[in-house]
Amino acid sequence: MRCNRGLWLLVKQLEKLITMHYISFVLLCFPAAYRPGEACAAGRSSDTLLLCRACGHELAVGTDIHFVPSRLALSSRNDTQLGGRRVNVQLFENPHGHRFEVITFRNADVRQHWPADKRFSWFPGYAWTVATCPRCNTHLGWGFQPINWPDTITKTRFEESEHTFLALITHQLLREDFASSLLVTPKSFVS
Ligand SMILES: [Zn+2]
Repeated sequence: MRCNRGLWLLVKQLEKLITMHYISFVLLCFPAAYRPGEACAAGRSSDTLLLCRACGHELAVGTDIHFVPSRLALSSRNDTQLGGRRVNVQLFENPHGHRFEVITFRNADVRQHWPADKRFSWFPGYAWTVATCPRCNTHLGWGFQPINWPDTITKTRFEESEHTFLALITHQLLREDFASSLLVTPKSFVS
């Protein structure tokens, strides 16, 4: 009888050990299983998609970012949150006292509103247009074109010229990989 009792205790101890090991296994291995996914998302850098923060419309990729310095900027700083690499962010103030932090792009999928305005330009030598999201119409920033160009031009001429650029407001943009990290559904399940 004493022998059986001893065996029973041994079995119980073994069960406890196995259960603890199983819990340890789950705790240790499952977070590890998710890490490669996170590392992968952080690894995509220069081709990072930039979205309209309001509606998720795809506006540009990291490689569209093109620094155009202006002596009228109140300040200029480096940021690594957008575009996946060091990006120059400039701060400007409009005549109404509103301040905007912007990043300059060679191109982006925005809707521009011509005619261009030559007054109060943040980039001397350039006239500006308002740029909005083509899907949700949120104001995203401004397009800049040489001041000696006609006030109204075609979208194609703007896009094909090397003398034009866009300044988009940083807080209106969202990194696609950051947006994905907020979703619970695995990326492979999203159509
Ligand atoms: Zn939008």
